[in-house]
Amino acid sequence: MPLSEFSLIDRYFTGRSLHRPDVALGIGDDCALLIPPPGQQLAVTLDTLIADIHFFANADPEGIGHKALAVNLSDLAAMGAVPAWATLALTLPKADEDWLAQFCRGLFALAEDCGVHLVGGDTTHGPTTVITIQAMGFVPPGLALRRDGAKPGDGIYVTGTPGDAGLALAVAFGQAIVAPEYMADVQMRLERPEPRMTQGLALREFASAAIDVSDGLAQDLGHILERSGVGARLAVNRLPLSPALIASLERDAALRMALTGGDDYELCFTVPPERATRLEKLAVRWNCRCTRIGVIEAEPGLRLARADGSTFPLERLGYDHFG
Ligand code: ADP
Ligand code: MG
Repeated sequence: MPLSEFSLIDRYFTGRSLHRPDVALGIGDDCALLIPPPGQQLAVTLDTLIADIHFFANADPEGIGHKALAVNLSDLAAMGAVPAWATLALTLPKADEDWLAQFCRGLFALAEDCGVHLVGGDTTHGPTTVITIQAMGFVPPGLALRRDGAKPGDGIYVTGTPGDAGLALAVAFGQAIVAPEYMADVQMRLERPEPRMTQGLALREFASAAIDVSDGLAQDLGHILERSGVGARLAVNRLPLSPALIASLERDAALRMALTGGDDYELCFTVPPERATRLEKLAVRWNCRCTRIGVIEAEPGLRLARADGSTFPLERLGYDHFG
């Protein structure tokens, strides 16, 4: 017998979350009842993943569950917010129990790791799988990492090794080949992005602006530049390329991938000169790289410079759903 909407919710979502004391009422009623901590701002974000647009419909469902939450936690990290609650809107073409069990395993494992309580949602039948998660977190007033605070002279940094997820996509589309010893790593970077929560929180004390890189480093940095009314100069030879990316593409193509590849979920942020040394000391202890890649300048626009000072050409800055 096919699973009804209500038994599906009961079986896969009710009572599966860790319990947070600031959840007065979770899944099961018309609304969740939440208790925001006094004096904090509520950071709210939402991201949708659509089958065969944001993930391959036949991809590992556990990875899809992980990623659907991870992309939202990445937004909270980029804001310097501590994650707390999430809601989930799930549209499915059929109630496939194997798929649901694995999807939930990935989702709830990451939720537990990050202290997130799934407090509600909606489950509907539709022509294709669509997963929308809304994540909520807390940040003290005035401490959120916004896009509009970068100033000329600030250093520009990026976490991790951007371009790896883009490389995995290129492989899936038959546009690149990765040596077998790197394949699992590269695949993980696309399917299991690790939201940079620790880094986002630490950056509250250091960063003048921050964004998470979902649509390509050059394009997302561009959002900081626009919102801050400044420009930037990037030293492309400083881009932190992973061994997999270096081994898989010729040098300029690897640099282009690091600048424009989507789905990285790394943080790109700016730090005023007087805080740079302290930040760099702290970042040594992070579980990911943190690399200074350029500097904010007063003149608007993004300038990409090679080591010899010549311009690095780039036709497309990143991913645009309507572009
Ligand atoms: P309503 O008809 O009031 O919208 P639903 O029948 O859609 O309520 O949902 C019943 C309960 O289950 C609600 O508390 C809702 O938040 C929760 N819920 C439904 N779908 C999901 C889901 N995919 N994930 C988490 N909670 C869900
Ligand atoms: Mg409903």
